[in-house]
Amino acid sequence: MVESKREVLSSSEVVDPYVTALTQFDVAADHLGLNESMRQYLRNNQRELVVHLPLRMDDGSIEVFWACRVQHNWSRGPCKGGIRYHPDANLDEVRALAMWMSWKCSVANIPYGGGKGGIKVNHKKLSRHEAEGLARRYAVAISPVIGPDVDVPAPDVGTDAQTMAWIADAYSATQGRWTPAVITGKPISLGGTVGRDAATGSGIMYVVQEAARRRGLSPSSTTVAIQGFGNAGQWSARLLAGKGFQVVAVSDTSGGIHNGQGLDIEAAIAQKNNSGRVTDYPKADRITNEELLTLPVDILVPAAFENQITAANAPAVKAKIIAEAANGPTTPEADRMLNDSGVIIIPDILASAGGVVVSYFEWVQNRSGMYWDEKEVSNRLEQVMTRAFQEVAAVSEREKLTMREAALILGIRRVVEATELRGMRP
Ligand code: GLU
Repeated sequence: MVESKREVLSSSEVVDPYVTALTQFDVAADHLGLNESMRQYLRNNQRELVVHLPLRMDDGSIEVFWACRVQHNWSRGPCKGGIRYHPDANLDEVRALAMWMSWKCSVANIPYGGGKGGIKVNHKKLSRHEAEGLARRYAVAISPVIGPDVDVPAPDVGTDAQTMAWIADAYSATQGRWTPAVITGKPISLGGTVGRDAATGSGIMYVVQEAARRRGLSPSSTTVAIQGFGNAGQWSARLLAGKGFQVVAVSDTSGGIHNGQGLDIEAAIAQKNNSGRVTDYPKADRITNEELLTLPVDILVPAAFENQITAANAPAVKAKIIAEAANGPTTPEADRMLNDSGVIIIPDILASAGGVVVSYFEWVQNRSGMYWDEKEVSNRLEQVMTRAFQEVAAVSEREKLTMREAALILGIRRVVEATELRGMRP
């Protein structure tokens, strides 16, 4: 359930995600009137650990993998954020993703700072034995800087519940005790929570419902296209279809499928799980990822990678609402163009927060030892997502800002407040 090979998606303009993150920050910092020292503090990451991991491969050779864990800011609590496996993983990308996690946790108002990890690896080429070895190596290498009160990793592109289980086990071995709260997104039998797998998609469903309601769109006459068919894309498709929305197109790295009458999402997911390619689904037309982004639909959900909606394709986007399930899918220039043409963009740091919110619920359950049922998880998630949406919408209306600007300002303002209250000293 992961996406890879982002280069075959529609990126035609090379934008460093860290430049995007810093540009967004600078605009919000100007609006908030932040002083120079606070700007410097928040533009940089508090800690960046780079490690090189030797791994014995099945053929007996040893390969060395580049990996890192970046902690952007811990003023509001332990750092939180996923671990990404990708052949193109690099420090600047992880820096951007860590900074976005700070704002995301703050917008959702959960008590965490932001962090992210990455390993430069094509995980699809690893055997299960090699994948386990790599996850354990990584856990031990970053063990000095993670922990339930320090930094709590989770899944991201290329990693899943099994990866989390290996990391939890290896980290626990370094501590001499079982420490499930060091990581979230674990299998349920190891202290994972019900609802974590679906969480990012559930969050997308809540914000899309809220945006559609405000725009006067009724689900049954509202069409949706989803780019990316990993965890976030599949669950968004399934849950939106479940609420009556017409999901007419989805895509993965093999390309896209389109059926104006609506796709059978369960069949498309089964197809993806079977052959690894959603494009093997029979009852639809084949389209490219580029075509998917510019389909005449009401709602577009980019659920793949950074830099997918660019200055080159933004003028052709026809959706009225974009709900960003991926982190950083829209470049700043494309963002400006879409805003000018009246498209409502529900930004990543709000729309994709469902995953980390349910991660927070998992961490709370691990620490209290009391486990919740599905209803409790989904009720609480709905509450958090709806409140966050309403708070961002209120700032946007009051201060005449886009939803993205409003979310950044709300998120950054809370981090600034916590930083000032704590002071910038040890
Ligand atoms: N990787 C997810 C994200 O980008 C979830 C992070 C988490 O649960 O800590 O939001």
